[in-house]
Amino acid sequence: MIRVGVNGYGTIGKRVADAVAAQPDMELVGVAKTSPNYEAEAAVRRGYDLYAAVPDRADAFAAAGVDLAGGVADLVDASDVVVDCCPAGIGAENRELYEARDTPAVFQGGEDADVAEVSFNSRANFEDARDADYVRVVSCNTTGLSRLLAPLEERFGVEKARVTLVRRGGDPGETSRGPINDVVPDPVGIPSHHGPDVSTVLPDLTVDTAALKAPTTQMHTHSVNVTLEDAPDPEAVRELLAEESRVFVIPETAAIDGAGRLKDYALDAGRPRGDLWENCVWGESINVAGRDLYLFQNVHQEADVVPENVDAVRAMATDVDAAESTARTDETLGVGLESVFSDGRIDGEREPVPADD
Ligand code: NAD
Repeated sequence: MIRVGVNGYGTIGKRVADAVAAQPDMELVGVAKTSPNYEAEAAVRRGYDLYAAVPDRADAFAAAGVDLAGGVADLVDASDVVVDCCPAGIGAENRELYEARDTPAVFQGGEDADVAEVSFNSRANFEDARDADYVRVVSCNTTGLSRLLAPLEERFGVEKARVTLVRRGGDPGETSRGPINDVVPDPVGIPSHHGPDVSTVLPDLTVDTAALKAPTTQMHTHSVNVTLEDAPDPEAVRELLAEESRVFVIPETAAIDGAGRLKDYALDAGRPRGDLWENCVWGESINVAGRDLYLFQNVHQEADVVPENVDAVRAMATDVDAAESTARTDETLGVGLESVFSDGRIDGEREPVPADD
């Protein structure tokens, strides 16, 4: 049993904690929080032990009538691996705490790559994290691009990828973020940092990215153009992507026209928090002209890195291989969303996986 602590219980941390708690080979030691807010209540309701992330603020938990199991140092001591889900930049500050207590840690994509020995994506470079002490799970956008580009590279060869990322302005709970009424190039300079970040997990690929921010909290949208080394027909690309458990090829029949309906689809499927752990690629958008592949995909920023965090822990703490870890994570969480419509799946190859098991 791998004992896992989660430091930082916000958007990513609460999802990672639930995912860890669902693993048969992992035990969630507890979660560290800065304040006794509504998310602390969610942890209490789930029966997770709470630790004070900032020792000076422990009194606030007592005043709110919330019992603590200890401070964050106690959580680190009790864990074989800590998953740091603190805001960008805080993870790097926390590394000292983990090092001092000789506890390996997984960091998130908001940290610079040099926070860890390895930047990680299950599909792209699982083995690189084997036995590493410090691993960074790459950001939601980089995760989405890596999952898409790794199979394309393996099957057809990738000469160059060009991606425009229309990013959500903030997460649903982030009331102070924006834009409210604009679409903003961000960064204005091209290329954006996303392409180089993909190179931290797929170093042989050339990926140019440009990024904008849009007034939505739902998902990121990627407009993808990949020049391949071979010239496949669109159906071959579609079949390749449909075989990937962490890619959902949206069938035309489903009449899903954007992130709103995608999230509704996830809720109807019984997904916790309406989470979409998979890249969502519009089947109709997959088109090939010569060696140029075009498609649209959406990435649920709050959710897609969650299975990757579970796999990163396994890569660091066990000898389980990528295929087995991915399968185990997918089965326990219900990753592998597929439509019952025939134009969304390869008939006979896989049965739909219930999303809520
Ligand atoms: P968040 O703000 O939703 O959650 C962070 C939590 O950490 C909050 O509850 C905050 O109170 C707490 N915290 C602050 N300081 C702390 C400290 N010193 N010790 C412990 N906890 C502390 O942030 P998030 O969106 O979950 O992002 C976490 C990390 O995941 C960042 O690196 C981010 O870049 C990355 N990430 C975020 C998203 C996303 O879209 N939300 C997607 C992928 C990766």
